[in-house]
Amino acid sequence: MARYTGADCRLCRREGNKLFLKGDRCYTDKCAVERRPYPPGEAGHKRVKESEYRTQLREKQKTKRIYGLMEKQFHGYYVLANRQEGITGENLLRILESRLDNVVYRLGFAKSRDEARQTVRHGHIFVNGKRVDIPSYRIRPGDLVAIAPKAKDLLVIKTALISSQRTEVPGWLEVDIEKLQGSILSLPTREQIDLDINEQLIIELYSK
Ligand code: SF4
Repeated sequence: MARYTGADCRLCRREGNKLFLKGDRCYTDKCAVERRPYPPGEAGHKRVKESEYRTQLREKQKTKRIYGLMEKQFHGYYVLANRQEGITGENLLRILESRLDNVVYRLGFAKSRDEARQTVRHGHIFVNGKRVDIPSYRIRPGDLVAIAPKAKDLLVIKTALISSQRTEVPGWLEVDIEKLQGSILSLPTREQIDLDINEQLIIELYSK
């Protein structure tokens, strides 16, 4: 699956928002959004004319970047969300949150979603006792996500655990730090997804 390989901080500056893509650095004064709060590139200081389309597009791009997805996959999730019952925007966020890489990040087993993706790809994650190395794998209520026994002493995992103590595990997940495993209690409600996203703008964009 293709993925963006450029500088993460440029993405935040492009969106004018902290997307928390680099773990610990995002919480320090080294954050590029704090130091250079304008879009990257030579045109960064120019005023850009706002339009409804541009606002919707930026919201979609921001959300894609938070979850580290390319357009094709992100649009695929929209199609899936649209087929489900309920509010499409909320369905979309719920699908994004239920990706295995996001769950590994939310449980505090990785410092960023990007790092979580690598952890999954390298085979360090078990779901219900079986190794799963597909970051887009979608977890379900009742699933048990655990660090593989051989990976428990990896420095990257230990560092992530120390780093994650600064953030709370959301209420739809339950983590057991001793056993390095987490349970999926339910899928998240919109209120449990602590991201500054106006998902309705994304739906309006795709519905045109
Ligand atoms: Fe974004 Fe984090 Fe870079 Fe700040 S440090 S610009 S929040 S990725």
